[in-house]
Amino acid sequence: MQTDCVSVWEQCLKLIKNEVPEQSFTTWFLPIKPVKLNGGVLTIQVPSQFFYEWIEEHYVHILKKALVATIGQQAKLEYSVVVDQGNKNSSPYTINLPNIKTNIDKAEKPRRMTNPFELETVDQAFDSQLNSIYSFDTYVEGDCNRLARSAGYAVAKKPGVTSFNPLMIYGGVGLGKTHLVHAIGNKIKEHLDDKFVLYVSSEKFINQFIKAVQNNEVQSFQNFYLQVDALIIDDVQFFGGKEKTQEIFFHIFNHLHQSGKQIIMTSDRPPKDLKGLEERLLSRFKWGLTADLQQPDFETRMAIIHNKMEAEGIVIPGDVCEYLAYTVDTNVRELEGVLISLIAHASLNKRDIDLELAKQTMKNIVHDIEAEVGIDYIQKTVAEYYHLTQDDLKAKTRKKEIVIARQVAMYFSKEYTNHSLKSIGYHFGGRDHSTVIHAVQAVNDTMDVNANFRNSIDDLKNKLKIKQA
Ligand code: ADP
Ligand code: MG
Repeated sequence: MQTDCVSVWEQCLKLIKNEVPEQSFTTWFLPIKPVKLNGGVLTIQVPSQFFYEWIEEHYVHILKKALVATIGQQAKLEYSVVVDQGNKNSSPYTINLPNIKTNIDKAEKPRRMTNPFELETVDQAFDSQLNSIYSFDTYVEGDCNRLARSAGYAVAKKPGVTSFNPLMIYGGVGLGKTHLVHAIGNKIKEHLDDKFVLYVSSEKFINQFIKAVQNNEVQSFQNFYLQVDALIIDDVQFFGGKEKTQEIFFHIFNHLHQSGKQIIMTSDRPPKDLKGLEERLLSRFKWGLTADLQQPDFETRMAIIHNKMEAEGIVIPGDVCEYLAYTVDTNVRELEGVLISLIAHASLNKRDIDLELAKQTMKNIVHDIEAEVGIDYIQKTVAEYYHLTQDDLKAKTRKKEIVIARQVAMYFSKEYTNHSLKSIGYHFGGRDHSTVIHAVQAVNDTMDVNANFRNSIDDLKNKLKIKQA
């Protein structure tokens, strides 16, 4: 039995890994231990009551799906929670909790029609495949997403009727494409509940199609998609090079479009840069509206942090919020990952969330985010090289040797990290982005005219690279 539950859990982890961001996976799933498997009931051990509640609240669907796929419809889940008595002398004890949503299969939404092309072995109830968590209410508006958001909203109000058909939303990873298209789908269903909305990732579409070809069911595959009133296809860049898939999608697209049905697509790049896509398909994409999502600016990041924390019922101090918004400036998914880790750290260590904890949490994560070399490390290395302290670099002083060292450290921060100019300035005693631009320029200029200086930059480069390798 013991090995059984371990291998079942390993199998589940493999499936779950594909469904959640890496940070969440590490934080919430790796600490779970499988305890036993009895009949269809898998008992897992989680480190705290908080952990249990968090998983129930956020990941129970994903857990259920993985479990059903691994051991079948009879699957049930039980938790065993290790309760820390908060006293180092007495060892933690365990309590067992049944899964509050005990019956795994009944929790699914009512079926509307059966989709014969699901890959899972279980007879899946077919629904819109929409995640209700992703709504317009939880989608923070900012300059970075205003056009896409309002176009999405207009489409949601009148699917198939506006000139935004197809609606194509593009942008880099973690910028909110999937969230936005789910929000559109959910909104349509909210006020037009007879409409058949369908969300499908392009990978899933491709796999369903391959299966249909193998089973001689291409006609039913196509018929199935022709019934959809609003078709949402996520990440169409994966259609690149898949000619047969593009062909069938082209037919479905034309048919739906002609019948006034709405098509919504996302892609990680603008249509003109989509590789391996047929021209006739690309030209269809341009019929409607193409809108992009940009990286969120500082204010939007602040608002997103506020919203997420409020939704969790957690208050974080203003300085922590500001620190995170400055530090994590790549994309929203990363920002969420950091927030989740922060909450987990606070809960596991029974601490309040404060600036120190935020910095500690960031330290653990920053390695991944910044490809090894971070601002902190650069400051230490440069300060040491010039026989200064790290604080000197952040101080207000204009002493010449400090100014030079500071400029050099700013220059490397720009070269070796993904931080924005604004964020770099923040880490150097709250200077503004123009100071950083000036520093980079000054270092480049001095290198041009001063061989000694150039050598010291090379020395430092080597020192910094040692860590990078
Ligand atoms: P993409 O599909 O572009 O890679 P996602 O839609 O999966 O990105 O977004 C990543 C995470 O960031 C999701 O959890 C999503 O809810 C969140 N997110 C993205 N943009 C916003 C936003 N404007 N407001 C609130 N949350 C957002
Ligand atoms: Mg996505």
